[in-house]
Amino acid sequence: MRSSIAYLTPDGAGRTSRGENDWQAAMKRAIRDGGELCRVLELPDEYVEPARAAAESFGLFVPREFAARMEVGNPHDPLLRQVLPIGEELVEASGYSNDPVGDLPAVRRPGLLHKYHGRVLLIVTGACPVHCRYCFRRHFPYRDGPRGIAEFGPALAALSADDSIEEVILSGGDPLTMVDSQLAELAGAIAEIPHVRRLRVHTRMPIMIPQRVTPELLAWLTGTRLSPVMVIHGNHAREIDAAVEDSLRRLADAGVILLNQSVLLAGVNDDAASLIELSQRLIACRVLPYYLHQLDRVAGAAHFDVPEATGQDIIEAMRRVLPGYAVPRYVRETAGGASKQVIA
Ligand SMILES: *Cc1c(COP(=O)(O)O)cnc(C)c1O
Ligand code: SF4
Repeated sequence: MRSSIAYLTPDGAGRTSRGENDWQAAMKRAIRDGGELCRVLELPDEYVEPARAAAESFGLFVPREFAARMEVGNPHDPLLRQVLPIGEELVEASGYSNDPVGDLPAVRRPGLLHKYHGRVLLIVTGACPVHCRYCFRRHFPYRDGPRGIAEFGPALAALSADDSIEEVILSGGDPLTMVDSQLAELAGAIAEIPHVRRLRVHTRMPIMIPQRVTPELLAWLTGTRLSPVMVIHGNHAREIDAAVEDSLRRLADAGVILLNQSVLLAGVNDDAASLIELSQRLIACRVLPYYLHQLDRVAGAAHFDVPEATGQDIIEAMRRVLPGYAVPRYVRETAGGASKQVIA
C-alpha cells in the first residue's frame, strides 16, 4: 500500500509523489546551484558566490524534499548548514587530509573495503542523494572503482573465499541511488555466499528522498535469507518530517533493523538539547541511535569540528535524561584501527 504524500517545494509549488520511480525524478529535480538554493530559501546574495566557489571541488546537491524542511530566511538553519558550501571549506587546516580514515589502504578489490573483523564494506556507487559538506569520502576516487553491479565479480569472489566475513555493508556514496533491479541482483549474489549472515545498508535516502522506500526495495532487502539491517544518517530532529516517518515505518514493519548514525557538527547539533530531541524522534520512529561520530578530519570540513570534551559533556547530559538505548555511542575512527573507538 502506498501513501500519497504532497511534497512542497520551498517556493510553495505542490508536488505529489506517485509512481515507483518518483525518487529518480526527485534526484533529477534536486538543487545543484548555490544561487537557486539561496533563492528558494530567500537568503541574502552574499551567500551565492562563496557557495559557487566552494562547490567547485565538491558540488552542491540538495533534494527539494530536504530543502523544504529548512527555515526560509535563516542562513544558520541546522539542515542548511550541512549542505550549503561556504568559504571556510577553502581554508586549509593542518591535520585535515583527503583520506582521513585510511580508506585507500583498506581497498582489497575494486569496490571492496575490509577493515574490521567479520564485516566488509562495498562501495556500490559514488552517487548520493545529498552532498554533505563534512563528508569523509568527499575526495574518494570513486572513478577507480566498479561501474555498475556487473563489475563486482572480483569483490564477490574475494568474499566467497574468506569465510570470516559474516556481514556485507552496502555503502558508497549512497547505495540506494542504484535502481532496485541492480540492488536485487547484488543482494541475491551476496545471499549465495554461505558464510554471510547479514546484509547492512548505509544510506541517507529515507531522510533525503523518503519516497525511495519502494515496495521493490523492501522486497530485495527482506527477500533473502540474510538479516536486513539499515543504518540511516540523521543529524537533527527536524530532518524527520511526516514523510520520513512514514518511510521508516514501512521499513520497520517489513522487519528491517533500523539504526541511526550522526556526526557531531558545529552549528548543527553540538548541544545536548538538539541530540536529545533527535534521539526522541528516532525512537518514536523505531530507530535506535547507534553512533555519534567525532568529525573525520577531511580537508574542507575543519569548520565543523567540535572538541571531544564538548561531545563527552553532551553524551553525559543525554544519559541523565534518556533511557540507555536512546544514547548513541560516541566514537571516532582512526586510520588502521581494529574498530571504531568509543570515546563515551
Ligand atoms: C564503519 C565501518 C564498518 C562498520 O563498523 P561497525 O562498527 O560494525 O558499524 C565496516 N567497515 C568499514 C570499512 C567501516 O568504515
Ligand atoms: S550521503 Fe553519506 S556518502 Fe553521501 S555525501 Fe553525505 S555523508 Fe557523504
